[in-house]
Amino acid sequence: CDDTPSEKATYDIRVTADDPFTVISNGTLVSKKRRNSATEWHYKVKSPMATYLATMQIGEFTQFKLGRNTTAWAPGHLRARVLEEFKQQQEMLDFYESLFGEYPFPDYQVVITEDELEIPLEAQGLSIFGSNHIAGNHRFERLIAHELAHQWFGNSVGISEWKDIWLNEGFACYCEWLWVEHKGTDSAHSVARSHYLVLSRKAQNLHLADPGAHDMFDDRVYKRGAITIHALRRLLGDEAFFDAVRNYLHAGRNSTVMPKDFFGHIDDAALKAGVSLDEVAELFDVWLNHKQLPKFPA
Ligand SMILES: [Zn+2]
Repeated sequence: CDDTPSEKATYDIRVTADDPFTVISNGTLVSKKRRNSATEWHYKVKSPMATYLATMQIGEFTQFKLGRNTTAWAPGHLRARVLEEFKQQQEMLDFYESLFGEYPFPDYQVVITEDELEIPLEAQGLSIFGSNHIAGNHRFERLIAHELAHQWFGNSVGISEWKDIWLNEGFACYCEWLWVEHKGTDSAHSVARSHYLVLSRKAQNLHLADPGAHDMFDDRVYKRGAITIHALRRLLGDEAFFDAVRNYLHAGRNSTVMPKDFFGHIDDAALKAGVSLDEVAELFDVWLNHKQLPKFPA
């Protein structure tokens, strides 16, 4: 792992584990060979993958089907909680497909570890949650939405440089709000406003376009990134905004992008929608390049 997000490769992964352990990795399971009291698990990842998205989970897991395209692996005793927490996983995937285009990988798996984890984590084609994230009360549903959204934003369409992390995390966070809006619980605008109020009380010293290694995963990158995206949606209108995002994702599929690629698709959509490019450039400038929090999008 060279920790360079722009470097993508295909993978061939073989692991032998003693019974009763299951090996889950990225990609498609192509064979499972029994040898005495052990099994060799062979996975192939055909879609180019950044090294930081490679994972291997070895444990005593039971498989639960969540939908056509989605599977969960979890300790058997967590069955009821897993099925409750992930019961809308397929609907969520269908919803994101309707907004962003086809799901980019052959399937989607979630692994729930026996251990408690500080935060869930996205890998390519799968996400990892701790047993503490599935209490059975949907308290962490936003994280289920967040990790799934990374399959489009970050995993298929990867960033070239870590400083552009807002493109991954801003979108994944905004997808949480889109899911809330889809369910009818609240509008993305109202969720954005409440996070804006929290941000306005925090230190105004974050440079979103280049937060630096220390602040790369600061919560302000996520929330300010998401509000930047929301501001674009308000400026362009839904039709032009979602067209631009779909075009951006389609062009960058299985590849890596720079912010200028995103800006280009936004500009094209703005022109079609009759929005001035100066206004778009001003929006990006105040949200990305200035530390002071701009005004909340009208
Ligand atoms: Zn994330």
